[in-house]
Amino acid sequence: MNDIDMVMQNARHAFNSYKTLSPAKRAGFLNEIAAAIEAARELLIPVAHEESNLPLPRLNGELSRTTNQLKMFARLIEEGSWVEAAIDTADATRTPPKPDTRKMLLPAGPVVVFGASNFPFAFSTAGGDTASALASGSSVVIKGHSAHAKTSQLVFEAMQKAITKTGVHTHTVQHVLGSGSTAGKALVVHPNTTAVGFTGSFSGGKALWEYANQRETPIPVFAEMSSINPVVFLPDTLQQNSAALAKSYAASIALGMGQFCTNPGLLLAVQSDALDNFLTLLGNEITQTLPQKMLHSGIHAAYSKGLDAALSQKGIEKIGQAAKAPGEGEAFPTVAKVKANIFLQNPHFREEVFGPYSLAVCCDSKEELIVVLKQLKGQLTTTVMATDADITAHQDVIDLQTTLAGRIILNDVPTGVEVCASMVHGGPYPATTDGRFTSVGTTAIKRWVRPVCFQGFKNSMLPDALKNGNPQNIWRIVNNEWTNAAI
Ligand code: NAP
Repeated sequence: MNDIDMVMQNARHAFNSYKTLSPAKRAGFLNEIAAAIEAARELLIPVAHEESNLPLPRLNGELSRTTNQLKMFARLIEEGSWVEAAIDTADATRTPPKPDTRKMLLPAGPVVVFGASNFPFAFSTAGGDTASALASGSSVVIKGHSAHAKTSQLVFEAMQKAITKTGVHTHTVQHVLGSGSTAGKALVVHPNTTAVGFTGSFSGGKALWEYANQRETPIPVFAEMSSINPVVFLPDTLQQNSAALAKSYAASIALGMGQFCTNPGLLLAVQSDALDNFLTLLGNEITQTLPQKMLHSGIHAAYSKGLDAALSQKGIEKIGQAAKAPGEGEAFPTVAKVKANIFLQNPHFREEVFGPYSLAVCCDSKEELIVVLKQLKGQLTTTVMATDADITAHQDVIDLQTTLAGRIILNDVPTGVEVCASMVHGGPYPATTDGRFTSVGTTAIKRWVRPVCFQGFKNSMLPDALKNGNPQNIWRIVNNEWTNAAI
């Protein structure tokens, strides 16, 4: 038995135990993980800072977000209605007689989570994928990201303290470090793995998805991959608000050195004097931004290569670049523009350049703007900057944007993803491998479960969520009516 096989055998045993725990016990475990990570804050932050180059305030905020996510999932499962219980009681008088059928969501099995380089806490070891999978009743195997291996190990050690304290199965959470193409692949193809969570590059996510589909039993891979997050600037708002728009968009493009999956990489507008003015102001704002170190040398090399390739395309014009030249490992914040007819002919312009870079596409007309939007691939977000008059005159543009992404934003920047029940951090391929799901917010739990219908079961044999007495006091659909009453 090799190491990965041992890990996945352990994950299966842990799943068989962990899935039987009450929601209250699982919630207690999640809360203990949150407490253990909080207790380790002083240890974790400097190590994450050293490994990721991310500033201390950002890392402190991200750690709080991580513990809040764990507590949010604890509350979700304590309340319990997320299991979507539906009950149709038997009717012996019907012809043919109607059976008693009861459905709920149950955890599918061990989940493998790949830590993301750009969020060493919130999308990594004890991040949203892990928290939602543990909440669902799945055991989790984490493939730590090599760019922050020490941070990942320390977070895992905090999680082990919670395992000891709550007495859940020792292998409910396990941690693997190693290369993606060997250890990562072996985890995905192992027969005990039932689903995979991933945030990272398109090539990485696609590779995992392919491994998963080449298995004898294919499994779902929930990969959040690449997005250029198109922003449409409508004419009246450009006329009225160009200075404020330039400030807020320069800040959003450069935020975290552009290393957010929701970074606004594509700005779209119809040609006008107001657009020219906005782009000049945006260029000036970008000139004033300071280059900072990127997450790791691989990401820096990919950004430098992608930026050079983008700027060497025919018809592109640089409109602003940080005045201070970047030092070693630092990104060069840059904005450029291109005419829509050239953009439409060159697929290169639609590729993500992960970092503080954005391309403005100048369209000759609203009709050309619509052609550009129709040519774009699936996105995590799309934004519309508009006055009320703009909205009235561009409903067709906004309707089209709604088909493009998991989240559509009005008059704000796309960076910043609220963690809440209504959030969708997902989108049509290639933003993700499955646009029906979100990786942020409470519904992220739905990735790790499958519906099971119990037909003809005695009340005593049913899971608590489906019992007549409704001992968990959850909301259920009983004979087509929402109720939390007992039957
Ligand atoms: P990555 O290269 O996709 O790696 C993420 C994880 O997947 C790592 O654990 C990696 O293993 C593994 N992996 C990558 N390719 C694999 C393969 N073919 N088979 C098996 N496992 C594989 O992402 P990254 O290191 O975070 O950043 C690289 C690029 O990803 C960036 O330049 C950027 O373009 C993009 N990125 C996008 C987002 C986003 O949210 N859209 C976020 C972060 C990064 P190793 O440990 O062996 O590397």
